[in-house]
Amino acid sequence: MTIKPILSFNDNGLRQEAQPVDEFNEDLRNLVEDMIDTMRAAPGVGLAAPQIGVSKRVIVVEFGNEDDELIPETLYVLVNPEIIQQSKNNVSGIEGCLSVPGYAGEVERAEVVTVRGKDQFGKKVKIRAHGWLARIFQHEIDHINGILYTDRADQIWQPTQEETDTI
Ligand code: ZN
Repeated sequence: MTIKPILSFNDNGLRQEAQPVDEFNEDLRNLVEDMIDTMRAAPGVGLAAPQIGVSKRVIVVEFGNEDDELIPETLYVLVNPEIIQQSKNNVSGIEGCLSVPGYAGEVERAEVVTVRGKDQFGKKVKIRAHGWLARIFQHEIDHINGILYTDRADQIWQPTQEETDTI
């Protein structure tokens, strides 16, 4: 499909609460295809629809760990995602964002989350995620609520080299 331009942090489109999706139609599936293409081209490990200027509650995440066969590379598509459970335990980690190029920040997130939503065909999806995957879901769900990681970070800096995957 199409690689779309990614909005940057000063764009108002990133600061709005995105609209819920109520129709699981061809338009939604085209949007999801564009989001996957755009995320892979960036490259990034996650993307939310508002980042390509579409105010819809849709996120895509593609993450795996080549050193850990328990975490194979998996693509997640979530429409109207919600965090229905999260651990009390928080962990600190370094995040970057495709909409805040050239920066990184340290952000506290819940270590474990359970995320519920639907896929692009309307099928129910529920994922229990730990560690980095949990962090990516929290970062992307923030995007559809108009929140950037820079709002949560204690410290933001310009890394001299790639310190983190960009979400
Ligand atoms: Zn981001």
